[in-house]
Amino acid sequence: MAPAGSFESLAAALRAGADSVYFGVGKLNMRAHAAANFQKKDLPKIVRLCHACHTRAYLTCNIVMYDDEAKALDELLLEAKKAGVDAVIAADMAVVRKARQLDIPIHLSVQANVCNTEAVKFYAAYADVMVLARELRLSQIRRIAESIRSEKICGPSGNLVRLELFAHGALCIGISGRCGMSLAAHNKSANRGECYQLCRRRYRAVDIETGFELEVDNQYIMSPRDLCTIRVLDQLLAAGISVLKLEGRGRSETYVSTVTAVYKEASRAWERGEWSTEKVKAWEERLRLVFNRDFWHGGYYLGEPWNIWSGSAGSRSPEKREHLGRVLRFFAQPSVAEVSVEAADLCNDSEIEITGPTTGVLRHKIKSMRCDNADGEAQETTFVPKGAKALIPLPKKVRRGDKVFLIAKRRLS
Ligand code: SF4
Repeated sequence: MAPAGSFESLAAALRAGADSVYFGVGKLNMRAHAAANFQKKDLPKIVRLCHACHTRAYLTCNIVMYDDEAKALDELLLEAKKAGVDAVIAADMAVVRKARQLDIPIHLSVQANVCNTEAVKFYAAYADVMVLARELRLSQIRRIAESIRSEKICGPSGNLVRLELFAHGALCIGISGRCGMSLAAHNKSANRGECYQLCRRRYRAVDIETGFELEVDNQYIMSPRDLCTIRVLDQLLAAGISVLKLEGRGRSETYVSTVTAVYKEASRAWERGEWSTEKVKAWEERLRLVFNRDFWHGGYYLGEPWNIWSGSAGSRSPEKREHLGRVLRFFAQPSVAEVSVEAADLCNDSEIEITGPTTGVLRHKIKSMRCDNADGEAQETTFVPKGAKALIPLPKKVRRGDKVFLIAKRRLS
């Protein structure tokens, strides 16, 4: 299950083979104040795009709800029902109750903190899929999955409850994401989609009375590394997990594309009995190329102590994307894009990335290109200066208005 925070990342998720996609709309989700957020009018298009790729579309509506939002919630769920969303991801019982009244399938969010079989039995009256708490160990996950099978715990659909687990992405220091830092500092609740990411800042621990400063190995003492379960994915799947939640609705379409493709490939390899340590190594290398705060492998699931801090505020990926320009035109015969080179010079052998709401993500190493000479004739060149237009042969179709990025090396301290 891949994240989609924009039409670009939705396209990236679909093209990377996501079986399902989750997204928020308007204010009633955990990315309520994200710059890019879908609106109610986008619902039919999102569902249509997903279903055209045989991908299920899940609306996240997992914030803590207040009474004065009941009307907005009713309207949102009605629109979701009309658009044909496949499920609503919920934690607050107000959302669960209203979605049930409309006969929309419910997936229980990680915010509900499901930690044991009794909780699964309780929620089975409402939800067919449940996200387990992130703090469980593998043995506990296995036991819950076994109980579902042996005790035939079924959801409203009559099918056995399916378990979903957080597989990759940013972690919170709050239990199951329930954190009070933003509420304490800014009177804004992370549980209502208004997280200020305060845990990602640097802190000092000082004894106020004496001024003594505690020395810690780095100052990011509340910012955990990102969870990456690729090394233990075979164990998680064998334990009975059927949905892998990939975090990152605020991340780029490149991140969504890579993470979705890697976990899809890995889970298919496990299903086919083609799992190998060499493959795991290669998958992990690919995951390291997109945004990450370094990895915590296996996390709570392996019972590891939770004291692995990120050590920096930004990404630890060795690569970064820099804005280059836009696609002006695409010529289908012979598959060439005209690109406005706006922000830097462009050379042969440069790697570029082209992204767009239909294109998704296309990565390409430039092997040849053309540029107009002084007489206005397009000529082969190895260098296109900033401000000019480049004609670049591409292996796939891109669209007018797509963004073009240059892939550059990131300096890591
Ligand atoms: S401040 Fe950090 S720990 Fe708290 S909700 Fe936000 S990301 Fe999670």
